Amino acid sequence: MRDENCIFCKIANGDIPTYQLYENEDFRVIFDAAPATRGHALILPKNHYADIFEADEVTVAKAFALAKQMAEVMRNVLGCDGINIIQNNGREAGQTVFHLHVHLIPRYEGQEKIL
Ligand code: 5GP
Ligand code: ZN
Repeated sequence: MRDENCIFCKIANGDIPTYQLYENEDFRVIFDAAPATRGHALILPKNHYADIFEADEVTVAKAFALAKQMAEVMRNVLGCDGINIIQNNGREAGQTVFHLHVHLIPRYEGQEKIL
């Protein structure tokens, strides 16, 4: 369930070292290389799915359950005032890495709008 040419497969499975917040059997949670805000993180499944349409329902449910848990941790640790949970599918929707991922973007009071 891996794509040898996919950078997120390598990161999710530990072949490329990265700053990570969390890991379990199915997912790795990492910091975005070009953060939109302080603490911007990505949830990566260890298996390769190009987008939400390729993923099974259980994986999607687990990804969003984990997104909620990570958002709660971020709220407590970062003291952010809000969090965007975003998931892009397809080039036209802004997807640039074609391995399913969920963005966690902490937002802070007084911060310029980015979305
Ligand atoms: P997308 O636009 O596909 O939803 O989001 C891809 C995200 O992955 C972007 O926010 C980009 O900054 C991030 N990204 C791309 N390559 C890497 C990488 O090699 N490492 C990390 N940590 N983030 C990456
Ligand atoms: Zn992949």
